[in-house]
Amino acid sequence: PFSDQTRSITVLGATGSIGASTLDLVRRNPDAFRVEALTAHAQVDQLAALAREFSARVAVVADPARLDELRAALAGSGVEAAAGPDALVEACARGADITVAAIVGCAGLAPTMAAIECGKTVALANKEALVSAGDVMLAAVARSGATLLPVDSEHNAIFQCLAGNETKHVRMITLTASGGPFRDWSAQDLVGATPAQAVKHPNWSMGAKISVDSATMMNKGLEFIEAFHLFPVGVERLRVLVHPQSIIHSMVEYRDGSTLAQLGPSDMRVPIASCLAWPARMDTPCDPLDLAAIGELTFRRPDEERFPATRVAREVVMAGGAAPAVMNAANEIAVAAFLEGRIGFTRIVACVEEVLARGLPVAPVTLEDVIAVDREARLRAQECMEPVR
Ligand code: NAD
Ligand code: MG
Repeated sequence: PFSDQTRSITVLGATGSIGASTLDLVRRNPDAFRVEALTAHAQVDQLAALAREFSARVAVVADPARLDELRAALAGSGVEAAAGPDALVEACARGADITVAAIVGCAGLAPTMAAIECGKTVALANKEALVSAGDVMLAAVARSGATLLPVDSEHNAIFQCLAGNETKHVRMITLTASGGPFRDWSAQDLVGATPAQAVKHPNWSMGAKISVDSATMMNKGLEFIEAFHLFPVGVERLRVLVHPQSIIHSMVEYRDGSTLAQLGPSDMRVPIASCLAWPARMDTPCDPLDLAAIGELTFRRPDEERFPATRVAREVVMAGGAAPAVMNAANEIAVAAFLEGRIGFTRIVACVEEVLARGLPVAPVTLEDVIAVDREARLRAQECMEPVR
């Protein structure tokens, strides 16, 4: 075992891609973890099966209409069943030693904030929550004394490369990007890209929303803002570099000319394990990195003509205030519309820009403010959706 202590763990978004990778590691280390809460959106059967397998104390389904169904599925198991957004927040307020925040979208914000308020460890995959809440989330981290560990592979890489060094010694942080499935597509071909093509990522297997974000490069835009908050070096010291092999997960260049990079297989269990064991290390079943087999690592500058999302994100960081929350909300609505076949691929980021151009609400100061900005921006974004050409 990597640790002689047993720690309680809550997994928000247990039925998703990050949730599955997290629970795979928990399953392999039965003495290291005790599962407190598992949550899902509406996948009752899958959630109940996981809750039974891991003997969770409580299972929460976000959809309040599914409570009876969940109760029935958990009958006789000893697992408590709960449902609805408040139950999600209450499950987090139980204060597990470590909470893996892996809900997709701003829907994960309130439960993640509740976990942060407990002052324990929060392993954050839910980048949309940090992008939307920004300083509001960081203030809660500072106030509660919580330890916020980044699960996102790039940010986990940067966190490891910083290794406690002061950010004042950092000359540049480079976020690497695979470039997504449409990296080599012409601007003209991008117009006709379909949802099926967008969710087929060359290197990673992920949920549908982040796969589309990866195809538009909005994932890198969200990650740029995520990095801006997690590593306070200033926007001018953050840049994006396209690296198609996804082996170098990001790098930190110091003032003396040293650049540290973190390398690893394209398997989210590596950064998740780094968070679960931190500051120790644990085994993962991932294949060791075989650089001789990979042969070469290549790099190129991002093309913001074809993929404007990183430019939009940089502008949004400079605008500050409500802009990141508006950008995120508009993107969530646009991605959903694209997946449902209601708008074309290139309309996703165009729509985000249109919503931003309509003016911004006042800067949010509290969690409630952020949620209000998110709700308002979603309504405005819906108005931008046009039927597919
Ligand atoms: P996913 O779609 O596979 O899973 C999402 C999970 O959230 C599911 O358990 C789902 O039931 C739950 N959920 C969805 N909507 C909800 C709602 N409204 N209320 C409560 N729960 C809800 O997504 P994923 O790929 O696992 O990504 C999760 C988060 O991690 C995202 O923020 C994503 O950007 C981030 N992330 C994912 C990866 C990856 O490789 N998958 C890598 C880095 C970061
Ligand atoms: Mg990432």
